[in-house]
Amino acid sequence: MACGAILAACTVAVLWRGGDAIQVKPDVKHPLQANIALPPEKPPAPVHKQSAVSKPVSSEPEAGQQQAAAPVRTPALSAAQPAAHAVMPPLPPRAAGEPAWLRYAVPARETEGKPMIAVVIDDMGVDHRRSIQALALPGPMTMAFLPYARDLGQMTRAARAVGHELMLHMPMEPLSAKENPGPNAIVTGLDPVELRRRADAMLDSFSGYVGANNHMGSKFTQDAAGMRIVLEDLEARGLLFLDSRTIGNTAGPSVARSLGMPFAERDVFLDNDSSTGNVRAKLAEVEAVARRQGHAIAIGHPHDGTVEALAQWLPEIEKRGFVLVPVSAIVKARMEACGGQAGMVRVSSC
Ligand SMILES: [Zn+2]
Repeated sequence: MACGAILAACTVAVLWRGGDAIQVKPDVKHPLQANIALPPEKPPAPVHKQSAVSKPVSSEPEAGQQQAAAPVRTPALSAAQPAAHAVMPPLPPRAAGEPAWLRYAVPARETEGKPMIAVVIDDMGVDHRRSIQALALPGPMTMAFLPYARDLGQMTRAARAVGHELMLHMPMEPLSAKENPGPNAIVTGLDPVELRRRADAMLDSFSGYVGANNHMGSKFTQDAAGMRIVLEDLEARGLLFLDSRTIGNTAGPSVARSLGMPFAERDVFLDNDSSTGNVRAKLAEVEAVARRQGHAIAIGHPHDGTVEALAQWLPEIEKRGFVLVPVSAIVKARMEACGGQAGMVRVSSC
């Protein structure tokens, strides 16, 4: 791929071999790329039953996002219904020892008191060309993959191999009926058994990730009872939750606090307008938030303008006085600031 033709600052060669293998080769090896071993992949569970009907998935205007994701054909929302006497499946047994979000966390640099910035790229894996361009950005970034992306195992392994942290990007119901979050999305009004089944299927779609954030979800995340079922599943698996905050009154933070689970919230959306100039302006906003709070979480998407702006900004981040970290590092710092060790104590007071 002629990466340089698209990104002046691109210093990587990206090879895509007919869907069989993905190699993302930075010219300069990132120091954090050493010693990152991709965990063995569990056999993926089916995320959805294929439907004969296909609909394009468009991206929700997440907090006003205007640019739609690249069109992709996916099955329509599943109409699967639970059996009449179905019982709620038990939550997975809590694994002893280190929780998954710490086990799969990409090591963070020493901050030396500098403000931390985490950049999450959502909607990964659906638009392959742009997703691969995003993977070529200097790390550690946090890459949030949709569970219905093609070649999910290969894409996520490639992301980890070049030093990025992984998240599951969970499709949830938006307020606008015109937006389609994708197959088997988590929607309001589902029987709790079916809700858990869908959450479990997504969570089993790949492995090696630290947690989940919501794709769309401006309607579902307001449903505290539904969010509790989903977040209980994450918490039982030792995963963190990042609330994308696609709606101001999301129930995510209050439910996460009540469960005492590791969580964080998005501070800035980078690309509601994905022109390079706008993304640059949003990155300045991210810097201001990080100076004020000591940390900031930005969310962007694999759009051309976003990738171009990040490719220019990321190599300068340290000179500008910040440390780029994976999102788990900010969650960890928040938990420690709340008086306990990461993953060991409840954070209901934070
Ligand atoms: Zn999304």
